[in-house]
Amino acid sequence: MLSFIEHPPRFFRRFFPYGFWYRPQSQKTVYLTFDDGPIPEVTPWVLDVLARYQIKATFFMVGDNVRKHPDVFQQVVSAGHCIGNHTFNHVRGFRMKTDDYVANVELADSYIHSHLFRPPHGQFLKRLWKALSPKYKVVFWDVVTRDYNMRLSGEYVLGVVKRFTRNGSVIVFHDSLKSEERLRYALPKAIEWLLGQGYRFDVVD
Ligand SMILES: [Zn+2]
Repeated sequence: MLSFIEHPPRFFRRFFPYGFWYRPQSQKTVYLTFDDGPIPEVTPWVLDVLARYQIKATFFMVGDNVRKHPDVFQQVVSAGHCIGNHTFNHVRGFRMKTDDYVANVELADSYIHSHLFRPPHGQFLKRLWKALSPKYKVVFWDVVTRDYNMRLSGEYVLGVVKRFTRNGSVIVFHDSLKSEERLRYALPKAIEWLLGQGYRFDVVD
């Protein structure tokens, strides 16, 4: 298994040492995060699974999805989960001017109202950090499940969680159509496994 994507190497973290990558606690803790929603096909199902285990998670939402599905957005908020900004159009930081990128984040903020931000596609640069970090806490990740990759299986995604999770891990899933098949397989099994390993679940704040 290649691990560059699943578990970001130390030098990658060094670019943004003040970002939230992982946060070990005295009691074994993980932070489940769900990116790219909210959408009616997948997000309510995720909420059901989390409710079954009484787990709170953090959802990094695409502003345009919140605009299209305000009812699903409200379901996530009402269930007591944390929400974060994932830009309005899921834009790529490497290709955009700083001002345009910030404008896209701000547009999303007018729907999302959160101090948390996660850059889409793992694309972030110092200039974007400088522009956004005064207002937003930038949340990266410690374990990327790759549930979005249609060439991989649900078993693979579950295997990523088992192999790379440690105390304090921020784990990335996606409530998206692309991820749905692997997510439906892996999420309940991953939660069962994490509980069996003695982890508690917390939200990014
Ligand atoms: Zn994303």
